[in-house]
Amino acid sequence: MNAKVVIAPGREKSVYYRHPWIFSGAVKSVEGGPADGDVVQVVDHEERVCGQGFYNFASEIRVRVFQWGESVEIDAEFWRARIRRAIQSRSRLAVDPETDSYRLIHSDADGIPGLIVDRYGDYLVVQMTTRGVEQRKQLFVDVLTEELSPLGIWHRGDADMEEKEGFTLPDGLLGGGAPPKDLVIREGGFEFLTDIADGHKTGFYLDQRDNRRRAAAHTGAGEVLDAFCYTGAFALHSLAQGADRVTLADSSVSALETARRNLDRAGYSVADEDCIAGNCFQLFRRFRDEGRSFDSVIIDPPKLAPSRSRVKSAMRAYKDINLLGVKLVRPGGSLVTFSCSGAVDAAAFQEMIFHTALDTGRDIQIVERLSQGLDHPVSVTFPESQYLCGVVLRIE
Ligand code: SAH
Repeated sequence: MNAKVVIAPGREKSVYYRHPWIFSGAVKSVEGGPADGDVVQVVDHEERVCGQGFYNFASEIRVRVFQWGESVEIDAEFWRARIRRAIQSRSRLAVDPETDSYRLIHSDADGIPGLIVDRYGDYLVVQMTTRGVEQRKQLFVDVLTEELSPLGIWHRGDADMEEKEGFTLPDGLLGGGAPPKDLVIREGGFEFLTDIADGHKTGFYLDQRDNRRRAAAHTGAGEVLDAFCYTGAFALHSLAQGADRVTLADSSVSALETARRNLDRAGYSVADEDCIAGNCFQLFRRFRDEGRSFDSVIIDPPKLAPSRSRVKSAMRAYKDINLLGVKLVRPGGSLVTFSCSGAVDAAAFQEMIFHTALDTGRDIQIVERLSQGLDHPVSVTFPESQYLCGVVLRIE
């Protein structure tokens, strides 16, 4: 390997601490004329070798390091070893008869920056969000096919990331056959109709698997409001744990229809009035004004802070919806609430809850803390890989 990126003096600290992102401002010079997507060696200004990563001049993140220490050959076998390591670390999920869908490769946190692979039964859905991975598209498809023999490999693009990285890669089939429109996946013993091509993310919110089960253990009997329900997974778990009635709410009409079908297939029917298509921020106000209340409320909004610069306004929105949510909970009931904004850490989220408690005057206890599923691991040198936090609150 010839190409080299030299770190500017005074900017080495995060590299020494093995943070995988090297921003343009930390680069002193680039030698050997690498093309975007090439593997480069990263050295400090005294020529000490730090690691190897994907180079991309189009991105503010100039290098994404995936190999620390002395340089090694980055060939198909290198990537095969990384993929095998990731698959191996999910081996407990692979033999779980209740679940056939989970994340197999979680980008930087699994040592492959920009490669996300989700298993949905016999199909794989991949997301390629860096130039380095996109350039090796066929290699990754070949290795995944050899290692896992899926019925098909489908690509779901991430337009924001593609723009930042300077490429476009359309959605579609990369190998094998296309998944059916209504793919039935299994999670925690329940079946969910999942639309790989047009659903959210790669089709399903796999990161909430453990939390659905744990939330349902708290919601128990009574009336549950599943706000931002998508395809109804929290609601289904709650019903199975004895909820008497669930109310589903989401702004997506098609998600809500699928939610209803998922509940229906599991033997639970939901009345029309309990399936509400609309904006939850408005709906919560309407419920408050109507004096509606619930034994449990689940709040799982989309990423309200897509970047650090949006954290302040996002915190106001989190506070708004949680304040309203607390008011809808009957005394002794529970609120299960989440943030999937990577820029909002658990401490900031808890502080928001603290202000909510003060404003409502209700006594609030944290009875359980929740995070992303273990198939979405967090690299300790890459705190950005921790993005989902949640709490189960008991509201007096
Ligand atoms: N709880 C879901 C995942 C929720 S993801 C699950 O377990 O699968 C966030 C959901 O919020 C998406 O389904 C999206 O359609 C919906 N959404 C986004 N903005 C909304 C709003 N303002 N009001 C209601 N729903 C919204």
